[in-house]
Amino acid sequence: MSRIELDGLTKVYGSDVVAVDDVDLTIEDGEFVTLVGPSGCGKTTTLRCVAGFETPTEGRVLMGDRDITDEPPYRRDVGMVFQSFALFPHMTVKENIAYGMRVADREYAEQEVDERVEEMLEMIELPGIEDRKPDQLSGGQQQRVALARALALNPEALLLDEPLASLDEKLRKQMQAELSRIQKELGVTTVFVTHNQEEAMTMSDRIVVMNEGGFEQIGSPDEVYHEPASLFVADFIGKANVFQGRVVDDDGETVTVDTGEATVRATATERLDPGTDVGVVVRPEGVSLSRVGSEEAVGDGDGRENVTTGEVNLVQMLGGTVEYRVYTEGGNELIVTTQAGEHREDPLRRGDRVRVGFAADQTTVLSTESVVEDLDVEHATEPEAEA
Ligand code: ATP
Repeated sequence: MSRIELDGLTKVYGSDVVAVDDVDLTIEDGEFVTLVGPSGCGKTTTLRCVAGFETPTEGRVLMGDRDITDEPPYRRDVGMVFQSFALFPHMTVKENIAYGMRVADREYAEQEVDERVEEMLEMIELPGIEDRKPDQLSGGQQQRVALARALALNPEALLLDEPLASLDEKLRKQMQAELSRIQKELGVTTVFVTHNQEEAMTMSDRIVVMNEGGFEQIGSPDEVYHEPASLFVADFIGKANVFQGRVVDDDGETVTVDTGEATVRATATERLDPGTDVGVVVRPEGVSLSRVGSEEAVGDGDGRENVTTGEVNLVQMLGGTVEYRVYTEGGNELIVTTQAGEHREDPLRRGDRVRVGFAADQTTVLSTESVVEDLDVEHATEPEAEA
């Protein structure tokens, strides 16, 4: 059983850098959980506490029913992969993968080592490269070998710290799929750290969005995208149009928000008092647009409560979708995404006048307050030596 549990985990560096602030999390056996958030929010520190490279200031780390908080890394039964592949350059691929078996308490017979290395190379789909040195491999191949090395001893948990960050875009996408496949095949409990929200969305069973050492939201990729718990999450995960405003009315079904330039209607999810400062969030694919004067005009009996006019400022073809930037009459810039085929007959171009509209049920209203409580100590932005 390799459930991982963080219980009130806190890490303070020196006397006042709160890197991780009293967080609780249970990662189920076989689950793929990603810690995502901006630079310095505490992702790596959290992972290092699980790996045993950092000792928490407070709180516990449990694996299964075992409290491992005070155990050194080599007793924890975890495999780890870092951004820099950290393969031993003077060793062959085989020696790299077999390293854990060589230094283990238990002695492995040579045949057992050979079989395991072969099995691992098949898993990463690179059979026959055991005698090469790391500098004879591409970046993606090296990262696969690092993964094989981390998994060679069949660890209870796999910990990954930005393992794909140094790969180019195409290779990274390929490795994301590869890593997901291997993780699911082995059913190994996995904690993945990235600042790349897209990577988090495509790979994870659940995502933990971190901000200033705390957890803003824990949820499935779908939940954090469609039901963000805070403006921070809405803004960090995926693209979003966010307008600042103040609640005018909340009748329990619809919230009316005055943004200064416009009055926006949104579906109520929680009771908000008039006067509350809020952000109104609409995803780009929740906004529709039509050319001014066209027959099927947005907002004409289509149920979209929020309609305005504007001018197309930018058109970007993204393959299956097209992204538009529209300057509205109210002075906002709206990002709008449509399916590529939608305006193909009569393509919209920069300078065209358009009507843009979005429905209240595509619109989320969130208080401007962060979910993470203000801490009474300052967060440093630069690492300091540990006191
Ligand atoms: P990144 O995405 O940039 O790697 P992160 O979310 O992984 O960031 P951490 O590396 O966990 O963030 O750092 C969290 C906070 O703790 C930061 O303010 C960082 O400066 C600080 N910090 C990290 N390691 C140390 C250390 N050894 N001594 C002092 N402060 C540290």
